[in-house]
Amino acid sequence: MLVDNLHEVQYNIKIACEKAGRKQEEVTLITVSKTKPISMIEQLYEVGIRKFGENKVQDLIDKYEAMQKDIEWHMIGHLQRNKVKYIVDKVAMIHSVDSLRLAEEISKEAVKKQLTVSILIEVNVAGEQTKFGYAIDETEEAVRLFSKLPGLRVKGLMTSAPYVVDPEENRKYFRSLRQLCVDINSKNIDNVCMDSLSMGMTNDYIVAIEEGATLVRVGTAIFGERNYNK
Ligand SMILES: *Cc1c(COP(=O)(O)O)cnc(C)c1O
Repeated sequence: MLVDNLHEVQYNIKIACEKAGRKQEEVTLITVSKTKPISMIEQLYEVGIRKFGENKVQDLIDKYEAMQKDIEWHMIGHLQRNKVKYIVDKVAMIHSVDSLRLAEEISKEAVKKQLTVSILIEVNVAGEQTKFGYAIDETEEAVRLFSKLPGLRVKGLMTSAPYVVDPEENRKYFRSLRQLCVDINSKNIDNVCMDSLSMGMTNDYIVAIEEGATLVRVGTAIFGERNYNK
């Protein structure tokens, strides 16, 4: 089941890349294992999956401890500053950096541990009240400020598009995130070369790939529905 689902998602990614005239290597699948048990992560590990996304610090740490050390863990959820110190040395990338104070904390902990932490700036492209992230017109300023912080590398932008039934409705948001990335790169800000766009989830990863996603974060299509009442 699990592995069949994975193969289906991988196949869809391949087709979406072909359709969009993109190389398959340009798109990286992050399998979002949040709320799912180690046993399922192990099954995916066995078939070669090495990149997992988690949105809670404690779960990320527990899974990090339990699993092989060649796994890349991606922090994709809202991160509290007081928890940064527990994960900076365990994550391959933090996708969800949504404030200067958080970026400063990551920088501080990275310097302390002599690391360079790869981060993405979260953008609230649709301006949803309930979501974290910078507004489109605040993002360039954030990039400028973050790029001056030691121990931290701004690799690109991330967004979670609205929940919609028809993924076509999100195409405009993916397109604006990509355009924003292109615009900011064209400013030649010192220390900034943003080549990552983390966008697209179960419902809309195909459209996101067509619009330039380099990282897609897919959970439900691989692991099945999440049960939060356990
Ligand atoms: C849960 C989550 C995902 C995966 O969502 P699915 O719809 O299950 O694919 C992707 N990104 C973020 C930030 C998430 O919290």
